Order: sequence, then structure tokens, then C-alpha cells
Amino acid sequence: MKINQNDTICALATPAGTGAIAVIRISGKSAFDITEKIFRTRNNKSKDFSKIKSHTLHFGTLTDGEQLIDEVLISVFRNPHSYTAEDTVEISCHGSLYIQQQVLQLLYKNGARAAQPGEFTLRAFLNGKLDLSQAEAVADLIATSDEKVHRIALQQLRGGFSTEIKQLREALIGFASLVELELDFAEEDVEFANRTELTNLVTSLHKKISILLDSFSTGNVLKNGIPVVIAGKPNVGKSTLLNSLLNEERAIVSDIAGTTRDVIEDEMVIAGYRFRFLDTAGIRHTEDTIEKIGVARTQEQMLKASVIIYMMDGGAINDSYKEELLQIQQTLLPQQHLITVINKKDLVTKEYSEIADAIYISAKKHSGIDLLKEVLLEKVAIQQITGNENLVINARHAAALDEAKKELQHILNGIQNKLSTDLLAFHIRQALQHLSEITGDIYTDDLLEHIFSKFCIGK
Ligand code: GDP
Repeated sequence: MKINQNDTICALATPAGTGAIAVIRISGKSAFDITEKIFRTRNNKSKDFSKIKSHTLHFGTLTDGEQLIDEVLISVFRNPHSYTAEDTVEISCHGSLYIQQQVLQLLYKNGARAAQPGEFTLRAFLNGKLDLSQAEAVADLIATSDEKVHRIALQQLRGGFSTEIKQLREALIGFASLVELELDFAEEDVEFANRTELTNLVTSLHKKISILLDSFSTGNVLKNGIPVVIAGKPNVGKSTLLNSLLNEERAIVSDIAGTTRDVIEDEMVIAGYRFRFLDTAGIRHTEDTIEKIGVARTQEQMLKASVIIYMMDGGAINDSYKEELLQIQQTLLPQQHLITVINKKDLVTKEYSEIADAIYISAKKHSGIDLLKEVLLEKVAIQQITGNENLVINARHAAALDEAKKELQHILNGIQNKLSTDLLAFHIRQALQHLSEITGDIYTDDLLEHIFSKFCIGK
């Protein structure tokens, strides 16, 4: 990506497709000039947008020479009071694909160029309107359909997270300059930076970063959903349960054993938390090749799951169930949770008291499902989120924090082992660099490209 802030850029800001209205955004030095060239008032007069007040609306038409393109409403945002901090115009036109294209073509013809993915937000960042972590919150905010993530992303957008990172950084900068000063007086063997105070500070920063890092597992779960696998032998009712949970006939339900051959991934939200269900074929031993693929996939999916709902048929539990459960328990990874479900409770003739904590349900009759949902929430025991705390939801931020934490550990060890001042200074600088990368106080073009190329065009 070549960063070029001199061009005036334009793009559709509303989703691609037909709507009642489409919004096209223009940002840059010539935004007002270009608009002046193509806009006519109701009285067929042109308007000098460079003299118009910010945050005003103007009704009129867009014309290409004599040809009328559309009736539009123009919003004017003067720099620096716009999203990008540049002169910005938003054209609300009629939402047909044809008109959208006509307006964009007209803008290109008059000197604007098509914006690249994320370029408006990139400019907002380069012009100091947002820091990098806030820009990423914009992307997260657009991507989410989920209340909790929405709140956290909003919190980041408002700068709560950046403020915390900046505070950590500033605390360290003070000491960094003292340690650097010692380097200037290396011959004289002086200590400007009190080592006890430095130890205390670094210890407290280390602790704060650890808390932020711990929040990433919650943040990650919130962002990506909690993966759940429903496993069990064929015909125990896995698809029926999934349907019951999703309340929609998305999985194949069949009386023939082993018909759910493809993995169907589906999501549902329980109490504001998103669960991703990986519906799988049974895990029985089989000679059938198609079924074998299903079995392999189940095993693969089970590795990815945080929760495994292991289902048995309450009408047909035979003596091998203990062995069956033991097998499942043995395959469980340390961080995985198991919920044992006995389905078809309408057919159950006796209690299986040996099966600890089993939940009796009837997927078909939709009974016991609420209890199952409760247990699901309990098992994952997600830290309750108010939406006001700073959670790490972005993998890049987590990686940078992790690096910063390692450097802080080096500093602590260094002080204890009387490491030379220049090495101490090196680790402090490294820690500062990693913290700066989060907010974008230090960045490379590659990093910007990596982040903004994932944005959609128009953002
Ligand atoms: P899967 O192979 O584990 O996905 O099992 P299915 O969901 O396809 O269900 C197999 C059969 O069991 C179907 O005929 C379902 O209607 C039936 N079934 C599922 N849940 C119940 C239940 O709670 N009670 C009874 N009696 N039958 C059920």
C-alpha cells in the first residue's frame, strides 16, 4: 500500500446493493471543489462549498454536464471536524446500483479516486483522529452482531483501552529517560534511576499487563464465540438437539443411523454470549468411507471445542456406557468442559445414577433444553462483562502486550542480577516499543497495510 494523502478519495459508505438511499463519501483537499462542479441547487445554481458552514445539509441535483444524474442531499464536514479530519462531503443519493455507479463515475471524472479498503480510517489515524487500537475497534465494531463485543469495541473506540496503554507507557518513559541519562555518564558510575522505585514500577506494570492479557481469553471468546461440539453415537438425537437449540430446521434429521455427515456450523446467543455449534456426525467406529470422513471431522472438531456435549440415547443405554464415557473423558483436553446429556428422556425406564451430573432432556419434545443452556453458561463461566472495563479483544494487541511483558520480566531480572545499564536501557526501550505499537505511536507501512487491508472499502 502506498500511503498517499494528497488525493481526494471517494467510496460507497453504505453496503453494496440496492437500498432506499446510498451514501457516497468524499474526503480530501478537493472534496468541496469536486462537489461544486457537479452539484446544482433547486434553482439550477452552483454552490461554493468552500464557503459553506460545516455540518450543514444541501438539497439539489447532481449533473454530468447537462445530464441529470439524481436528486441528492449533501452533507458538509469541514476539516478538522470530520471523520478523517479532512474536508469531507457525504452524498445521499437514491439507492439503486445504477445511480451509485453513475455518481462514483462522475466523481472519478472530476478528480476523485476510488478509496482503498480502510483508507478513510487510515487517514483518520494519520491525521491523529484515532489511534491504531481505536481504528481496529472500528473494524471490530463493524464486524460484530453481538451485544457484548459491541460494547467492548465501543469502549475501545472511546479510547478507554488506549488511555490505559498510554498510561503504562508514560510511567515507563520517565524512568527510561533517567536510565538513558546514566548512559551519558557511564564513566562516573552514577544511578539516576532509583532501582527500588524502578522495580516497584515495573512490577506494577507487569501486573497490569498480565490482567489485560488474561482478559484476552474472555475477549477472544466474546469476539469469536464459544465453540461447542455435540458428540455421541448415531441416532442419539444430536441433530434434533441442534435444531431444538437453534429453533430452525438447519440440520438433517433422519431415522437412518449416521446420516448427519457434514459438519454444520451454527451460532446462537445465550444471555448475550455467542456459542458456535459444530454439528458433527457420530463418533462410532465404522467401515463406511463417507461415515469415516464424518468421524474424522468429529474428532477434529472436538479438538477445537471449548465445550463438548456428549449425548446418549436414554431409551437405549446398554452396559457399555461406562466404557463409552471413560473414553470421552480420556480424550478431553485440560481446558475443555464436558456435559453429559441423556436424550430421549421420554423413553428412559431407569435412572443412570452412575452417570454423574447427567442432564436428562428430550430434544424432540423440547424438554430440559433450558437447563442445558444454564449448564452451558455455567461451564464456560465467562467473566461477567459490564462493558466498561478494558478487555483485550484483538490478537495483535495481545501479542504486543505479551512481548512487552517479557521485556518487563527481563528488566526485573536485570535489576536483580545487576545487569549493565545499557542492557537495562535496551529492554526498557523494547518494552516501550511494544506498547507504542498497540496505539500506533510507532508503526510501519507494513503494519498499516496489514490492519487496514482487512477493512471494507468505504470505511
Ligand atoms: P443423530 O444421528 O444423533 O443426529 O440423531 P437425530 O437427531 O437424527 O435423531 C435420531 C432419531 O431420534 C430421530 O428419529 C429423532 O426424531 C429421534 N429423537 C430425537 N430426540 C428424541 C427424543 O427426545 N425422544 C424421542 N423419543 N426420540 C427422539
